Amino acid sequence: MKAVQYREIGKGPELVEIEKPEPSAGQIRLRVTAAGLCHSDWFLMDTPEEQYTYGLPLTLGHEGVGVIDKLGGGVDGFEVGDPYAIYGPWGCGMCQACAQGAENYCPYAAEMGITPPGLGAPGAMAEFVIIDDQRHLVPLGDLDPVQTVSLTDAGLTPYHAIKAALHKLTPGSTAVVIGVGGLGHVGVQILRTLTQSTIIAMDITEDKLDLAREVGAHHAIISDDGAAEKVRELTNGLGAEAVFDFVGAPPTTDLARQVVAINGFIHIVGIGGGTLATGFFSTPFGATVRAPYWGTRGELMEVLDLARAEALTVHVERFDFDHAVEAYRKLHEGTIRGRAVVVP
Ligand code: NAD
Ligand code: ZN
Repeated sequence: MKAVQYREIGKGPELVEIEKPEPSAGQIRLRVTAAGLCHSDWFLMDTPEEQYTYGLPLTLGHEGVGVIDKLGGGVDGFEVGDPYAIYGPWGCGMCQACAQGAENYCPYAAEMGITPPGLGAPGAMAEFVIIDDQRHLVPLGDLDPVQTVSLTDAGLTPYHAIKAALHKLTPGSTAVVIGVGGLGHVGVQILRTLTQSTIIAMDITEDKLDLAREVGAHHAIISDDGAAEKVRELTNGLGAEAVFDFVGAPPTTDLARQVVAINGFIHIVGIGGGTLATGFFSTPFGATVRAPYWGTRGELMEVLDLARAEALTVHVERFDFDHAVEAYRKLHEGTIRGRAVVVP
C-alpha cells in the first residue's frame, strides 16, 4: 500500500510502498478515506536526532478517517464499510483519566509504550491504518470525510482549550487568537459558535488575516511589535479575558502575556518552543497559563456534532497521495490556507 513516511532524520516525508498491515486480536483495520496534515508533523520531523523518540520509519498522519475494512479476533459490533473518525490521543484505557474519556491526559500511556497513530504508532497517511482498540473510533455518520478529518485534531484541540476557558468568555469579553492556520481558523469558528465574545485574530500575512475575517473574527491584525497596543486599544485598555496561542513561539507567548487581562486565561497550544513564566513580575494578577494537549473522546463527539449542526467549516486544500510530499512542503512554507488533507 502507499504511505507517507518519515524515514531518515532531517530528510522530511517520503511517499513509499509498504506492506498492508493485518489487524491482530482486538484491533481494527480502517481503509483510510482522508488524512490531515498538522504542523506537529513538522515539529517531529524538525526534532534533532538526540531528542527524537517517535521511531523510524514512521508512517505519518494523526488526523484520520476511514471505513471499517477488517476486524481482528474478538472484535464485533462493526459493519465492514461503515465510516469512523480516529480518536488519536491513545491512553491505557484503564486509569481514572481514560475512564473519563481524557486519554489525552493518561499518565501511563508513555511508560506503557502506547503512542498515537502518526506520532509513534503507524499513522493514517496511508491507504490502511490499524486502530489498537475500538474505543478509539467515533462514528462519522454521513459527515463528509474530507471536510471532517481535520476536526479530529485541528477541531478537537482548539475545542478542548476553548471549553476550559468558557467561564471567562462571558458576553462583552474578548478572545485573542494568535495564528490562524489549521487549528486557529477552526478555533475562531468555535469561539463564534460557543460565545458572544469579541474575537481578535492575529497572523503574519494578509492572506491569513483575510481567512480570519472570513471565518468570523471581528478584528484581524498583524502579529508584530504593535499588536499588543492594538489589543489594548480595542479593549479599552483592559486586555483579553482569554488568549489562545496557536503558535507557541517565544514572540507569541510573550505577546499572549502582554495582551491578557487581569484574571484572564492564556492557553499555549502551539509547540513552537516558547515558554511563559508566570508570577507577580510577569503575568497580570490572577492570570492562568495552561498548555493543553489535544482533547477528550467525548469532546471529539461534540466537535463532530458541531459539524453536523453546520457550525464549523474546515477550509480544506485537497491533495492526492502523489502530491502529499508537496502538501507537506507547502505546510512548512506556511502557504496552506486552512488545512491540507490527503485523499487516497
Ligand atoms: P499551521 O501551520 O497550520 O498554522 C500556524 C499559523 O500560525 C500560520 O497561519 C502561521 O502563519 C501563523 N504564525 C506563525 N508565526 C506567527 C506569529 N509570530 N504570530 C502570529 N501567527 C503566526 O499549524 P497548525 O497545524 O494549526 O498547528 C499550530 C501549532 O499547534 C503547531 O505548533 C502545532 O505543532 C501545535 N499543535 C498542538 C497541539 C496540542 O495538542 N497542543 C495539537 C495540534 C497542533
Ligand atoms: Zn496535530
